[in-house]
Formats: sequence, C-alpha cells, structure tokens
Amino acid sequence: MHNEGLGSWPARRARKTPRRAALVHDGRTLTYAELDERSTRLAHGLRSLGVRRGDRVAYLGANHPSFLETLFAAGTLGAVFVPLNTRLAAPEIAYQLADSGTSVLVYGPSHASLVEEVRGAAHVRAHIALEGAEAGGGAHDYEALLAGAAADRVDEAVGPDDLCMIMYTSGTTGRAKGAMLTHGNLTWNAVNVLIDHDLTADEVALVSAPLFHTAGLNMLTLPVLLKGGRCVLVPRFDPGATFDLIEEHRVTFMFGVPAMFQAVARSPRWDGADLSSLRILTCGGAPVPPTLIAAYGERGLTFLQGYGMTEAAPGVLFLDAEHAESKAGSAGVQHFFSDVRVVAAGEPGLRPAAPGETGEVVVRGPHVFRGYWGLPEESAAAFTDGWFRSGDAARVDEDGYAYIVDRIKDMIISGGENIYPAEVEHAVLAHPDVLECAVIGVPDDKWGEVGRAVVVARDGSGLTAEDVLAALAGRLAPYKIPKSVVFTGALPRNGAGKLLKQPLRADFGSP
Ligand code: ATP
Repeated sequence: MHNEGLGSWPARRARKTPRRAALVHDGRTLTYAELDERSTRLAHGLRSLGVRRGDRVAYLGANHPSFLETLFAAGTLGAVFVPLNTRLAAPEIAYQLADSGTSVLVYGPSHASLVEEVRGAAHVRAHIALEGAEAGGGAHDYEALLAGAAADRVDEAVGPDDLCMIMYTSGTTGRAKGAMLTHGNLTWNAVNVLIDHDLTADEVALVSAPLFHTAGLNMLTLPVLLKGGRCVLVPRFDPGATFDLIEEHRVTFMFGVPAMFQAVARSPRWDGADLSSLRILTCGGAPVPPTLIAAYGERGLTFLQGYGMTEAAPGVLFLDAEHAESKAGSAGVQHFFSDVRVVAAGEPGLRPAAPGETGEVVVRGPHVFRGYWGLPEESAAAFTDGWFRSGDAARVDEDGYAYIVDRIKDMIISGGENIYPAEVEHAVLAHPDVLECAVIGVPDDKWGEVGRAVVVARDGSGLTAEDVLAALAGRLAPYKIPKSVVFTGALPRNGAGKLLKQPLRADFGSP
C-alpha cells in the first residue's frame, strides 16, 4: 500500500482488529472494518464528484462518525480536509470556505439553513447533506452517495509530506488563519500522545470536545484510533450527561479545556458519581487553575496537563502522571518527538531564557505545521531558524519543567511592571464565591495600564468588589492586584470553551 497518510489508517486497523469497536455514537457502534468500508466508499463517492489530489473538502457539523469518515476519505484521495467550527456565523463560514477554496462541503442537519445562506458566497461545487438533501443542483445525500459507491481500494499515493488538513485557528486573537498540517504532522502528534499517555488498545475515549478543534481531534480521537481503542462521540457537551456516559461506557480517557472540567466538577452529579473507570484525564488548551487540579485531586483523580496549539498539531508540552503531583501547575516537558525551548521574549534571536526567567516558548519537530494557507509572510514570520514562535510566555524550573504564564500579547504593563493576567485570574478564582474570572488591562493616566477583574459570582452570594480585592491582599504583589472589579453574567468563550479577551476588552476595557 503506498498510501502512508491518515487515509490508510482505517484499512490498516481493519487488517489488525476488524471487529473491534472504533466509534460509538447515538447508541450505535462502528467497527474498524465498517469504518474502513464506509471511508473507502466515501472516497469513491467524493472522486465521482470530481475531488482530486489537493482539492479541499470541508465538514460542518457536530461530532459524528461522518466527520472522521470524511477526513479519512479525503486523506485516501490525497485531498485536504477542512474542519469548520460549528459556532461560527455565516460570514465567517463563507470566509473560510472561500479562503480555503473548498470544492465539496459535507454538513450536518442542524447547519442546513446556514449552508443555504452561504451557498452563493463561496465556490463550493457540491454539497453533501447527512440528512434531508434535495437531489439535484450539486446537492447530494451522504448515505446515498456511500451506497452507490464502489468499495474496492483506492489507488492513490499519499506520503507524510502531503497536506492533510487546513485547520483554522480559533481566532482568539484576530482573524482566523488556516494552519496547514501534513499527514506526517498529524501522525507524529498522534504517536507523541500515544507514547506519552501510555495509551492501550483498551482505551475508551469520551469525545465531548468538538472534533473541529485540534484538541478533541488530535489529542484524543486520532491517537486512540491509531492504537485501536474506542471513541464515544458526543455531539454536544453536557456536564450532567457526562456522568452517565462515563458509567455506561466505562470511559478511561478524557481530554478537555479547564472550562469543561470545571463544569463537570460543579455539576450536582459530581458527588457520588462512579468515576472508577477513569484512567487518564488531560486538561489543557488554556491555563489550568490550581483550584481545578485540587478539586479533582480530592476525588482521587490526577490531572495530566497538555500545552499546545493548532500549529503544532497540537501537542508541545506534557505533564505525565509520574510528575502530576510533584510538578502540579507545570505544563511539563516536551513530547517524545518534539524539541521545545524557552527563549528571551521580544528579542529577534533565540537566546535561551535563564532558569526562572519568563520567556517565549518555541518549538521544532515533525509535528510542527508547514505554515498558514495563502499567507507566506505570516508563515515566515512565525518561525525563527526553523523554530515556531508560540507567542506564549513561560518559565522553566531547574529540572526543565515549563510553567505557562500567559499569552505574551495579553500581558499588562503597569508602571513598567509586567502583569500576566492568568496569575491574577488564578488568585481571584481561589475565592469560593467566584465562578469565573478574566483580567484585562485598561488605560490609566498614572500607570499606563492597570488590571481590571471581570468576575462571574456565584448566584445569590452577594459578592462585592471589595470582597474580591480584600481576598487578594497579601496573596499578590500590590501592583498585580486589579484596580477595579466588574461583575457580569457570563464570560465570552469560543467553541472550545476558551476565553475570548477581545470582546471582553471591547465591553469592559474603557477606563
Ligand atoms: P490564536 O487564535 O491566538 O492562535 P487559539 O486559542 O485560537 O489562539 P489554539 O491553537 O486553539 O488557538 O490554542 C493555542 C493557545 O492556547 C496557546 O498558544 C496557548 O496560549 C493556549 N494554551 C494551550 N494549552 C495551554 C495550557 N496548558 N496552559 C496555558 N495556555 C495554554
């Protein structure tokens, strides 16, 4: 077989473990043999619609087996998969379809009207609906396409350096950019996750993070499928229902951003739930509050920590079980096939930061992306001598363990002192009546900029700004203590549950 890309995974798995369950969704199970057959049929179906090597095939929908079938089918043809964020508005979807030059779009039933809205805006040749397609005019029904397609092997050479996916970064800091990930990038990342998490073929992953984001797909689903484990696909994250799923499927592996784990721990079901099957809990994608690590610790559950970004496919740093306690709060050390350094921030070269000094994380390795789609200048600027500049601030301790401080661009400079909001947010979150907190900089005549805490208080707690500030006295250096506190009902978050600081600054950033 000269397909060495992701498209060959179902066939390779089907040869080894055809009858093992690969995907569980909505009470139905798909074995590896079935996943192989369906992905192969879809590849033929896509080819019949004119999809050729290098063409882009997009997917818009909630977590569903067809997401993975489309990824594998595109990979089989040497075509490029473009996962779209289901929370985006029509103009944003239209932009990503046009920017990527997508020719075929597969979409789920809840996005039919949105697809209708963007139909004219982008040059998509064919639309494949999971349900309710009206035949004709470039519209196709997913199951009918599969049923009418051949099931023999597709003969197409695909190698590790071929482009596999354009994944738009979720854009917490500006316009979405398409990160170009090769088959090799995604394979090496999956191998890193598999080695560093010690995954076994008996893993049962609960995939409640969206597949269109790098974490749900690349930290959880693809490594588990590579190893021959089982993935339970959850279309919509629901903290309460999570407990039923864990018990029913004897889930062993979960990955989520802190906001997800937070919501689970705050559910009324938390006390008394049977969590005994859980073996691997990895939290990452955003700063992990120490209070969260402690809450799971009290239940005897250890958090592993992952740090990464879309551009690195995404795993960069990882804190394993052995060090989860002794290095709590650290994002760990580089993945097995990865090289990571912390260098002096704001300098053009790669001068290593001293132990304890805060610098910028840079990463190099076979999992690091090829650049941004259609943006050669931004792509070149993202690297220094082959090292990808993450834009994240971190410090390294004497044992080489990295502590992510915050995004460099979110740093507040107050009276010449650098304040990293994440540190202040963690301190505010230690107050039992604070549910959520974000700290932003606001212009100030005297100090240039000062911190402001935007807080979501526990219902009926009567928490005041004075209470919040009083709790920080003595915990933080005075210059780090926010000068004001405002209360709000909820913080803006993106599809992955990550805090969006830009709308927050727009709403609360005036002096
Ligand atoms: P942008 O649009 O700015 O690229 P994003 O959130 O849309 O950001 P992602 O690739 O999803 O892009 O997220 C990567 C970023 O998430 C990292 O650069 C880092 O700032 C943050 N992050 C990821 N893991 C951790 C972690 N364990 N601790 C702190 N921050 C983290």
